[in-house]
Amino acid sequence: MNALKCIKTPAVSAVRSLIASRSLSSSAIVANNIRDDLKQSANRATTWSENQIEKKNAFKGPRFENTDIDAQPQPKAAIELIAEEPIRMVEGRRARCDGGGGALGHPAVWINLDRPGDHACGYCGIRFEQKPHHHHH
Ligand SMILES: [Zn+2]
Repeated sequence: MNALKCIKTPAVSAVRSLIASRSLSSSAIVANNIRDDLKQSANRATTWSENQIEKKNAFKGPRFENTDIDAQPQPKAAIELIAEEPIRMVEGRRARCDGGGGALGHPAVWINLDRPGDHACGYCGIRFEQKPHHHHH
């Protein structure tokens, strides 16, 4: 039992000093690399949900050691990408959307187009609108 204690004690203190040195260095990195002018994404300047944390604050704290923002992935914000998609004009009163099908798609849904204007798919955000038409009597 004594032999076990002798092995364990130096290991614990080594881990503690490692943790201490890593926290020190990560707070130094945060101070150097988080800029106040950070855009939320490559194609979006600001947040788009009240539950979202601004990027300049999102990378702080003990979970983020590598906070060199330029070395991080820079995904584009989907909210901007989907807004660039043209509205699909559809014959008839309903549109079918499966997000394009396959592995990247979603379960097929029918979207009612009776109300004027465009209607976004609840899964993927693609917008549909009924083509103007003549009434038959
Ligand atoms: Zn969809």
